[in-house]
Amino acid sequence: MNETLIGVECRACGYRAHPYQSYGCESCGATADRLIEVALSGSGTVTSSAVVHQQTERSAEVPFTVVAVVLDDGPFVRGVLSSVADASLRDAKVYARFDHEANDFRFALRDEVPSRA
Ligand SMILES: [Zn+2]
Repeated sequence: MNETLIGVECRACGYRAHPYQSYGCESCGATADRLIEVALSGSGTVTSSAVVHQQTERSAEVPFTVVAVVLDDGPFVRGVLSSVADASLRDAKVYARFDHEANDFRFALRDEVPSRA
């Protein structure tokens, strides 16, 4: 099982992104031969979150929380939280947890959700 987020790094400009793709750099436009696969930490900070209460796909259990995360090593990643959290998760620290199939992960909260002033 893959326990690491696999992303892509551009050898021309250093830009990192997730998920891995081999089309070319989305930042500087370098061709695919300048891209390398890179292991990402999976740790990051939530920039926004939302609870999904309805889903057209019946296999998906609701509610669930989607989060937008800036990883500590650069890339912006959207994912699903391992728990449901109604409060704002902005600035919460999370990490990628792999309890599913390869490269299928959920973000988990590192600590309590920061209280809002
Ligand atoms: Zn680039």
